[in-house]
Amino acid sequence: MLYLTEPESLGDLLPNEPSYRTNQLRDWLYTTPVLTANEMTNLPKPLRDAIDPQHWPFDLDIEQTADRGQTKKWLFRCKDGSPIESVLMGYANRTTLCISSQVGCAMGCTFCATGQFGFDRHLDAGEITAQVAYANAFLATTPLPRSPERVTNVVFMGMGEPLANYRNTTESLRRMIEVMGISARSITVSTVGFVPGMWKLIEEPWPVNLAVSLHSTIPSERTKLVPINKRYPIDDVVEAALAYYKAKGRRISLEWTLIADENDSDEEAVGLARIARYLSAHVNVIELNPTPLSMDRPPDHDHVRRFVGTLKREGANVTLRDTRGQDIDAACGQLRLRAASTRDPQDG
Ligand code: SAH
Ligand code: SF4
Repeated sequence: MLYLTEPESLGDLLPNEPSYRTNQLRDWLYTTPVLTANEMTNLPKPLRDAIDPQHWPFDLDIEQTADRGQTKKWLFRCKDGSPIESVLMGYANRTTLCISSQVGCAMGCTFCATGQFGFDRHLDAGEITAQVAYANAFLATTPLPRSPERVTNVVFMGMGEPLANYRNTTESLRRMIEVMGISARSITVSTVGFVPGMWKLIEEPWPVNLAVSLHSTIPSERTKLVPINKRYPIDDVVEAALAYYKAKGRRISLEWTLIADENDSDEEAVGLARIARYLSAHVNVIELNPTPLSMDRPPDHDHVRRFVGTLKREGANVTLRDTRGQDIDAACGQLRLRAASTRDPQDG
């Protein structure tokens, strides 16, 4: 599989070809990606035919469209049958791809479809990077209406906890930034608060953005929603986030999935605003997208407004995030759940 090989080692796969072929191939994979090897027009036809089955580390299983064509959701299947979800979102001045870092997730957040599924395996650095390359190959022939024709922003907010798959996540960052040329400042790693990974990320050379999924500031409540809080308590998460902000000068964002009667009280809003002020962070509030395996629901709109109003009054910078692609189950892990429930189990 071409993307499973380091970009610098592609030559090993072409021992009988002149070295400029390696550069041509690397460009087709990372600089100007194409959906099929047959479109790699400066490679000889026999070579295109030979590499075609090795091209992508996954096949497209399901493609869905929402928001009048501005949102695309893909469910890919790896060669071992593992699902990978990516969501492409077009805006006026940016095209953002939300990518997965693991198949499933071991963190077990109760409200998250991926967490409910449990952990299967890490994604390889190539499987992470290939999601971005695929989106660029797709956009080259089918751009989203009124949005940049390349991926300008990447967020690690699909399936998985990227910092629990540290080596592959950082190797994929290296490929995106140093080989594909995506600006580190346009990439956001989202973490549930995997503290050792947060400290390690400080040591990496790139100023990527860090989003921290808090969901509660009350330790017992946070442990209920985010079980890993037991191992990495919120105070340690906040200290690591502060260190990241100081080291990189990149404003932290705090993610808050708002759930009725769980984390939507005034007390939570006040506590969240206090942490946001302490970190000079930006708060993103997102209404829960209900999942089949949980009774949790988002609060009604008045209550959401009240929560956001309290945050603002308490001095927090806050955005109520739009819930892109709700009609296509675009939240974390949900397309996969649907695929699983509509598929004959024997189909794999
Ligand atoms: N594991 C990382 C990144 C993937 S989850 C993390 O937790 O940050 C990305 C974001 O999706 C998180 O902020 C998470 O809280 C949010 N999310 C998960 N399930 C959701 C749901 N059902 N509705 C709304 N947001 C959800
Ligand atoms: Fe994992 Fe993030 Fe889902 Fe929690 S919210 S289970 S950390 S993917």
